[in-house]
Amino acid sequence: MDVVWKGSRHFSKGRRGYRPEAVVVHLMEGSLRGTDAWFNDPASNVSAHYGIGRDGEVHQYVREADQAWHAGRSWTPSWSGHRDGVNPNLYTIGIEHEGKADETWPAAMYKASAALIKEICLRWNIPIDRQHVVGHREIYARNTCPGSQVDLSRLTKMASGIAVDLGNHNLIGQKGKVTVRATVNLRDAPTTASPKVGSIAGGTEVVYTGWTSSGQAIDGNPHWYRRADGRYFWAGATEQPVPGL
Ligand SMILES: [Zn+2]
Repeated sequence: MDVVWKGSRHFSKGRRGYRPEAVVVHLMEGSLRGTDAWFNDPASNVSAHYGIGRDGEVHQYVREADQAWHAGRSWTPSWSGHRDGVNPNLYTIGIEHEGKADETWPAAMYKASAALIKEICLRWNIPIDRQHVVGHREIYARNTCPGSQVDLSRLTKMASGIAVDLGNHNLIGQKGKVTVRATVNLRDAPTTASPKVGSIAGGTEVVYTGWTSSGQAIDGNPHWYRRADGRYFWAGATEQPVPGL
């Protein structure tokens, strides 16, 4: 997807040993252009990793490996993934959305947001479900962000649907054999968003007909092998964790 780098002066380098575990959905209560300026205004002291326009335009302000200042406070959090005593900025990625609290979200904004959430989740091995895609007010209940109009369940289901669509994963049609080191699950798409449909026992030699380098990155490895029956298994569980070398 096309992402335009805008940058922000407000962020903290690194994550002090934490990693992204969830995506926080925000609402700008304003425009994408206004947000571009606000995140670079010395007085704001706020930022997010991304901002999405109502037409689906995506801007990036902070690298995912760094902390954006989007959800630094907690107040009676209802989110089950919340870590007491740890700044949520350390373990979340924040996405802002253009518009006001009572404005309907256009299809283009849902679509771009879902595509971005899917990419983030595959990159950081984050499950695509409502426990890992949360509204800001689920962390900070004094706030109404992201407003009354967004359907977070719909957004999450869209992201999950994009993740399991094989048209969104590359496939290198190279045949070979590989031995599985430990029991590995079989799925219809190279992501845990696709349900487990079987498994292969450790020590088994498997014939594969191709592989993808754009699956869910488990332990940083996004490679998954594909069998002749179309089922995928994660390459990290095999004696050749990076195919094609
Ligand atoms: Zn917010």
